Amino acid sequence: MLNLNFHPAGRHLLSIPGPSPVPDRLLRAMSYPTIDHRGPEFGALGRKVLSGIKDIFKTQHPVVIYPASGTGAWEAALVNTLSAGDAVLMFETGHFASLWNKMALRLGLKPEFLGLPGTEGWRHGVQAGMIEQRLRDDAQHQIKAVCVVHNETSTGVTSDIAAVRRAIDAARHPALLLVDTISGLASADYRHDEWGVDVTVSGSQKGLMLPPGISFNALSPKALAASRQATLPRAFWAWDEIVEMNQTGYWPYTPNTNLLYALSESLDMLMAEGLPQVFARHERLGAACRLAVQAWGLPIQCADPALYSPVLTGVMMPEGVDADRVRQMVYQHFNMSLGAGLGKVKGKMFRIGHLGDCNDLTLMAALSGCEMGLKLAGVRLRDSGTSAAMEYLAATAQAAARQDG
Ligand SMILES: *Cc1c(COP(=O)(O)O)cnc(C)c1O
Repeated sequence: MLNLNFHPAGRHLLSIPGPSPVPDRLLRAMSYPTIDHRGPEFGALGRKVLSGIKDIFKTQHPVVIYPASGTGAWEAALVNTLSAGDAVLMFETGHFASLWNKMALRLGLKPEFLGLPGTEGWRHGVQAGMIEQRLRDDAQHQIKAVCVVHNETSTGVTSDIAAVRRAIDAARHPALLLVDTISGLASADYRHDEWGVDVTVSGSQKGLMLPPGISFNALSPKALAASRQATLPRAFWAWDEIVEMNQTGYWPYTPNTNLLYALSESLDMLMAEGLPQVFARHERLGAACRLAVQAWGLPIQCADPALYSPVLTGVMMPEGVDADRVRQMVYQHFNMSLGAGLGKVKGKMFRIGHLGDCNDLTLMAALSGCEMGLKLAGVRLRDSGTSAAMEYLAATAQAAARQDG
């Protein structure tokens, strides 16, 4: 039996790719007393976060904030823009793309799941060329939306969203572009308006560093127009009343007040560091992590170096090694959590998160835990990954500091 009163000494090292570690500053902000969600003080908070979050999505248009996990915001994106029986084109990049596809099916849509054969798609990004070809073949414009995942958290592979936009435009197709960047936002560069995305879905517990519990839909004028025609049933998720009331900083129902305190704090932190620096920090930590994995002599799940995720790294196990046993060793002996392999790659790989409130030494701690855990599990390592990562971090520390000003 797990004894819930027992806590090992020191902090648990949460190295999963979301929820990511919550900074103390956010935890403290969340402990403020809950206020009247119809009072003047709340209106000021609401206006601040609703305006500030637009800078993170890089949009001028409304961003809807739901008191829900990312899965809720996935549903919101579909039910607000589509009608029963609508064809939607989705691309299989991994487990999260698969779950969104399953949801579309449950909602009575007709999702078509494009992808590379077998598990190949789980090592690559969205193939914009395949989307373009499929849309060209759809002369009747039956397909109403294209849905893709920007940062596939199950694999550590990113996708080129601007290229998907260009593919839709090249095919002269009117389909909406719906993008999941639940784990990419505020860690990897993302541009809702510039990339012509119609609905961007995101969540609180990844790059934004909040606990789980709020999620987002960033909208485009075209998405708002589509929502006036779409007929899938929706009540709680309906954009119209929320967008209307948000204009004054309020919600039609009780919003998640204390998580909005945390969001306000997170926006301050991200803007103080500067988004370009935030992205550069993630890129650098991602590069250090991959050097460690390569030194160990283990394959990286992402097979395309141009698409390495700055958010997490998927580490593939040699034949015969159970990745979940390695994770279990690390948890038991070093008080650290690693991400499991999900769906088709369960037991075949684990995931190291390097997103949100992380720095050189939190990454080094995570890599130490991995290296020791791999050894305990009997995995033969070619070289020391921690040494490789430390050398890279030391060699690039001064340049990184200059970038920070
Ligand atoms: C975490 C995640 C989700 C699911 O979000 P929940 O908050 O768990 O509902 C969906 N897509 C991606 C890419 C994610 O990383």
